[in-house]
Amino acid sequence: MKRSNFFLPTLKENPVDAKVASHRLMLRSGMVRQSSAGIYSWLPLGLMVLKNIESIVREEQDKISQQILMPTIQDAKIWKNSGRYSDYGKEMLKILDRNKKELIYGPTNEELVTEIFSNNVLSYKDVPMCLYHIQWKFRDEIRPRFGVMRGREFLMKDAYSFDLNEDDAIHAYNKMFINYLNIFKKMGLKAIPVKADTGPIGGDLSHEFVILAETGESKIFCDSNIFKQSIDNIDYEDKSLVSKIVKHWTSFYSSTQETLDENLYHSLVSSNNRIQKNAIEVGHLFYFGTKYSEPLNASVVNEDGNKIFVKMGSYGIGISRLIAAIIEVFHDEKGICWPESVAPFKVGIVNLRQNEKNCSDISQNIYEKLCSTGVAVLYDDRNEGAGSKLADMDLIGIPWQIRIGPKSLKNNCVELKQRNKNDEVEINISNIVNEVRKKIVKQ
Ligand code: ATP
Ligand code: MG
Repeated sequence: MKRSNFFLPTLKENPVDAKVASHRLMLRSGMVRQSSAGIYSWLPLGLMVLKNIESIVREEQDKISQQILMPTIQDAKIWKNSGRYSDYGKEMLKILDRNKKELIYGPTNEELVTEIFSNNVLSYKDVPMCLYHIQWKFRDEIRPRFGVMRGREFLMKDAYSFDLNEDDAIHAYNKMFINYLNIFKKMGLKAIPVKADTGPIGGDLSHEFVILAETGESKIFCDSNIFKQSIDNIDYEDKSLVSKIVKHWTSFYSSTQETLDENLYHSLVSSNNRIQKNAIEVGHLFYFGTKYSEPLNASVVNEDGNKIFVKMGSYGIGISRLIAAIIEVFHDEKGICWPESVAPFKVGIVNLRQNEKNCSDISQNIYEKLCSTGVAVLYDDRNEGAGSKLADMDLIGIPWQIRIGPKSLKNNCVELKQRNKNDEVEINISNIVNEVRKKIVKQ
C-alpha cells in the first residue's frame, strides 16, 4: 500500500479527552474515530488490526469448535424465557419495531444459541457440540471510557459448549482454557487465568484471562510463578493431558478482587511472590450447567431413551478490547510497537527524499519486490519532510522500517530498523528484500 493512496488521518497532537495511552494512540494513528459515546468507526489501519486479531482467534477456535454467525438483534421473548430480560438491567438496549415487537441488541448470546441448539439437535449423537461466533455486542455501559477498552458497542468472540454430562462439560471448559492461553500467546501477550466471579451470566465455575497493565480496571491477586509457565499446542482430545495442564495452571493462586480469599492467598503464596496489580480482562470462561438449557428446553434423548438437559458453558474474548490491551503493553513515547502477529503491515518504507529520483526509484523498487513476495508493506511516498514521515511511522508502530535516503545510498545501502529497538543497520540494496523476509519469517 502506498501511503499517498491510504486513508490514514494521523494526528500530531494528543486528543485532550483521551486519558489512557491506547485511546490516545488509536486516535492519533488514525485507527478509529468516535461516532458517539462508546461507539466507534474503524478506519483502514484499525480495521486491519481488528481483522488480524479475529484471524488468530478463529484459527485457534476452529480446532475445538465450529463458527456460526448469529444476528446482533434478538427477540426479547427468549430473554423473558430465561429470566434475564429483567435481570440484565439497564445495560441491555431494548428496541421496539414498527409492529411494537420487543427486540434487543444482543449483549451476549446464551439464549439465542440455546434456542438454536434446542430447535435443531435432538440426539445425544450430535453432542458434544461447541459453536462460536464473532459478532458486535451492545452494552449500555454506565461509563463508557478509554476508547474501545470499554465501549458500548464492541466486538466479541463468544463460544458455547453443549455436553451430555458434567465430566464432558468440564473437558470442554478445559479445552477452551488451553485454547485461550494459546490465542493470547500468539498475540505476544502473557495472559493469565484468574479465578473469577460469574456475574449476570451465572454458574459455578469461572476464570477470567487478564493482562497486567497500570490502566486496567480489574485488580488481581496472584502468585508470580504463574507468569513463568508456558503453553504449547496439544491434542485437545487427550482428556487426561488437557485436565493435567489445567490443573497445573490452576495450582497457582490467582484471583480477582471479588473472589479473593485473603487467608488462603497469604497461606499459599509467600510474601515475595505475591502480585497485586491492575489488569485488563480480555477473556472469560463460564461453566453454568443447565441454567439456560432447562428454561429454554435444550435437551437430547440419550442412549437409554431418557431426556437430558445439556450442560453448557460460555466463553468470551473481547476482540476490540484486545487492541487497546495490546497497545497498553506495547507502546513507547513515540507510539505503538505492534507485535508482528497483529501488525497491520509488517514493513514500512520511509523514503526520506521523495524529490530525489534515486531515492524514489530505489524505494519503489524495494516496495514492488517485497509486495511481490507477499509481504504486507506500507510505503510512505508522500512529499513530506523526513522528520514528520519518521514520526508518523513510529506512531503507527509497524515492526520493521526501511529508511531510504542519500546518506546510506552513497554506500549502496538502506537502513533497516526494528520499531522497538534503537539500533539501525545498513544493508546493501541487493540484499534488503531477502534480509527483511528472513527476519519476518524468523519471528
Ligand atoms: P467487564 O468486567 O470488563 O465489564 P464483563 O465481565 O462484563 O467485562 P464478559 O461478559 O465477561 O464481560 O464479556 C466477555 C469479554 O468481552 C470480556 O472479557 C471483555 O474482554 C469483553 N468486554 C466486555 N465488556 C466490554 C466492553 N464494554 N467493551 C469492550 N470489551 C468488552
Ligand atoms: Mg467478564
